[in-house]
Amino acid sequence: MRLELFKQQKAKDIFCPHCGTKAQLFLYKPACPNCHWNVRAAKTNVLKQFRNSMIPFILFVVLLSLGTFGPGKSLFPLLGWLWPVGFGGFWFGYEYFKLSRIGQAKIVAPLEPPPAIFPQMPPLARSYNLSFLLLLFLELVFVVITGWIAYSNLGRILDAVRTRRFDPDLTFLIFHLLGLFHLVTTAPAKLRAFVVESRIATFGQAAVGTVISESYGSQMGNEIEYEFRDASGGTQRGKGMDFSKQLYEDMRLMVLFNPADPRENVPVCGLVTHRVVT
Ligand SMILES: [Zn+2]
Repeated sequence: MRLELFKQQKAKDIFCPHCGTKAQLFLYKPACPNCHWNVRAAKTNVLKQFRNSMIPFILFVVLLSLGTFGPGKSLFPLLGWLWPVGFGGFWFGYEYFKLSRIGQAKIVAPLEPPPAIFPQMPPLARSYNLSFLLLLFLELVFVVITGWIAYSNLGRILDAVRTRRFDPDLTFLIFHLLGLFHLVTTAPAKLRAFVVESRIATFGQAAVGTVISESYGSQMGNEIEYEFRDASGGTQRGKGMDFSKQLYEDMRLMVLFNPADPRENVPVCGLVTHRVVT
């Protein structure tokens, strides 16, 4: 079993899947300066990351204003807390500006349909994906610890909300509820992945697919959407993880699917309870 969880790897060069030019990175997402591959997706990503990184600051300022709000109290000093928004705006804005200088796609390269190639099903062995397990573990720890702090002070937190005072532990309650919501809503997909993967390991078939979209998931892996053709020639879509963090829009990947029901599919880079035996 390979343990690469804490090994920092130097980012590998990424080459444009359309023209082979070395791609430039914007935040972490590649775009091609030659044929403008992925410029649009990289722009969307800059805006999305800006929004996501600003949410905690804005939430913090809203919570602070809970404590300040009231007759005769000025909200003006709170504006000082918004400086990270300005800094972020500048930094993310610069990335966006660099992307705009590349320009929009000269030719809007249509998504190439995945080839109807069915490589041989790779041999799989049962092996738990450590990144996946660690991710799950950290998520559980987060929910338990924030919940522990929040519930043991729940009376005081609610009193503070009622009287419009700011209790710092309110932050823990909010983070706990967000974490719990995420855990509960993603649990069915995770459980399903276990079932689907064992079925695919038994009667699976392999296909070459194309990545349609990639979004930053966590330190451990990115979330991808992909398309592939099943044995009847129909195009299927799937969602999964890319633990290799090497796949971006329009790149090829190997997908394993259940020939009896191709909606049950998993990318090789997103296997959680098996690994390919090489
Ligand atoms: Zn290119």
